[in-house]
Amino acid sequence: MSANDTFQICVLPGDGIGVEVTAPSLAVLEAATGRIGGFRLAFDQRQAGALCYRDTGVALPRETLAAAAQADAILLGAMGWPDIRYADGTEISPQIDLRIEFGLYAGVRPVRTLPNMKPVLADERAQTLDFVVIRESTEGLFSSRGKGVVVEDREARDTMVITRAVCERLFDFSFRLARERKGRGGKGIVTCVDKANVFASFAFFRKVFDERARLFPDIRAEHAYIDATALNMVRRPWDLDVLVTENMFGDILSDLGAGLMGGMGFAPSADIGDRQAVFQPCHGTAPDIAGQDKANPTAMFLSAAMMLEWLGAKHQRPEAIMAGGLIRSAVDMAFADGLHPYEIGGRDGTREITRRVLDAIGLAEPVAA
Ligand code: ATP
Repeated sequence: MSANDTFQICVLPGDGIGVEVTAPSLAVLEAATGRIGGFRLAFDQRQAGALCYRDTGVALPRETLAAAAQADAILLGAMGWPDIRYADGTEISPQIDLRIEFGLYAGVRPVRTLPNMKPVLADERAQTLDFVVIRESTEGLFSSRGKGVVVEDREARDTMVITRAVCERLFDFSFRLARERKGRGGKGIVTCVDKANVFASFAFFRKVFDERARLFPDIRAEHAYIDATALNMVRRPWDLDVLVTENMFGDILSDLGAGLMGGMGFAPSADIGDRQAVFQPCHGTAPDIAGQDKANPTAMFLSAAMMLEWLGAKHQRPEAIMAGGLIRSAVDMAFADGLHPYEIGGRDGTREITRRVLDAIGLAEPVAA
């Protein structure tokens, strides 16, 4: 944070609906910051993504990376486009490069249902879900990205990597989050999600989890296999608190979590490392709805709220935490008031959802951090 109480935010809108949800999120951030006061945000908008690659031959320009490294936080829309690919046919995903570059090992994917939504599950308890999937975001099966081999059109191999150094930080982060949630009425449980009954890599993952669990005796440490977890996320998601898992499993479980909330447009995320963090919605660039005012910006608003809370906690600025809480309250208020995005069969598009959330920011009651 600079001397004049300003957080520098590197903004990477990216491609497709990434661009469409970024501009409204900046308006929402400005409104919440202005209402709470005491600090400011300076946005430094930079290029990266598939269109950037098409136009310049580089998906993540050096200047963008340098700006991201210097910023207090990074806010990202979404990146990639089906027809624009690297020469080897793989997708353009600088968001994954950023996770590696800055060591953003903790992919935090909250699953929190909004008021007044058409139920995804019949059980009444599913109307008020509040749990978190933590997806390790720098290694696991994704370590093989760009390195997998196909041998003579006969067989293919990708390699999973699990390291002690990353696991220890990942599990400590998960236990600290469960502790913080417990302070706010959470269940105080961390569940290690793996396939330790089949793979050496996951048996090691679980072993390191058990070692770190001993350092957090106030938090209950549990184990679950990935297949059973997929089942339980649909059968009893109200029993969950903090789930921590490998990169590929987390990729899948976080989409399942988004489904429980109503769709990808409701699912925020943060990729957090020891020094830097990227905040972005879980969704991609959604080429099928791009350019039609149909994108639901809610996930982006909630990611922006997570950014303010992370900045506030890191720099001991309760005002920033309050502004994050205000965005979340405003989103809740707008949905309680009957917002109905296209994504769930309604008529409210990006502009209308933004307008209603901005109105609610003016009305919602800020809560002291
Ligand atoms: P990626 O692989 O980059 O995560 P994807 O191709 O798997 O992306 P998305 O781009 O997230 O998937 O789109 C999945 C589906 O969800 C699409 O039908 C898309 O229209 C829908 N979708 C995604 N985000 C939103 C949003 N913000 N609002 C409305 N619908 C969305």
